[in-house]
Amino acid sequence: SNVPNIILNNGVRMPQLGLGVWQVADEEATSVVGHALASGYRSIDTAAAYRNERGTGKAITESGLPREDVFVTTKIWNHQQGYDSTLRTFDASLERLGLDYVDLYLIHWPAPALDKYVETWKAFEKLYADGRAKAIGVSNFKPTHLRRLMEETEIVPAVNQIELHPWFQQAEARAFHSEHGIATEAWSPLGQGKGLLDDPVLGTLARKHGRSPAQVVLRWHLQMDHLVIPKSVTPSRIDENIDVFDFTLDEDDMRQLAGLDSGNRLGADPDTMN
Ligand code: NAD
Repeated sequence: SNVPNIILNNGVRMPQLGLGVWQVADEEATSVVGHALASGYRSIDTAAAYRNERGTGKAITESGLPREDVFVTTKIWNHQQGYDSTLRTFDASLERLGLDYVDLYLIHWPAPALDKYVETWKAFEKLYADGRAKAIGVSNFKPTHLRRLMEETEIVPAVNQIELHPWFQQAEARAFHSEHGIATEAWSPLGQGKGLLDDPVLGTLARKHGRSPAQVVLRWHLQMDHLVIPKSVTPSRIDENIDVFDFTLDEDDMRQLAGLDSGNRLGADPDTMN
């Protein structure tokens, strides 16, 4: 496929664009992920909390693609954080996926009130040392959480997956990540498909390039060097969302998109999500 790779801080290559499968039922995940793999996707973002690791894994196995050609991300849910619990929980995810390693394992949320992300990360370091997770990272970590992790543990996260789209651009987090060699991955990259895609600025840019608003947004992410994992269960949209490698937004387009930042989240605040 024509999706470029981002090289993570441990040398692992990760396709810059993949499919997210939040809110996809386990039974549906097999056909949705199967369609995406057939359409050129080589990265899939699931989580234990999505309850579709089994259906996702089935699609990967049934695709017939060599294991090393598919990049699989899953995540540990808050209630399973803790050293021993993480090791057990990881085994259960692998079993459901039907795989013997994952490409990227993420702490889904820092859940600061639980105060377990440091010990959870130490278990992640063991999974990485054992080669069962080829890269380890976090999700929804603010710079304060990342700073503490880097002070109290050995390995700098390869990735931080955060809410990120033109209406919530996270300048401070992105700057912190680049300073420390952490790749920024955008969740809800399309703003969950709600109001964002109806923004008139996107409409104008879409008409200018003969593309859809979703494609303009994905192009913005790619040009900002984000990893991006748009979700869709609709085959035509799955195809549309990966068909973004043959046009370029110019400086003026990028400037207009920069102006859309509202500073407001659609999702939960990591400080209070437990
Ligand atoms: P998204 O921003 O990817 O939006 C998906 C929605 O946009 C779809 O349900 C559909 O309604 C619409 N859509 C998709 N393609 C479209 C197109 N081409 N044209 C018009 N509408 C289109 O939302 P998301 O699912 O929240 O985020 C993507 C992925 O990010 C998730 O599936 C999940 O893997 C990940 N995620 C992670 C976290 C986290 O806490 N780490 C939180 C949310 C999402």
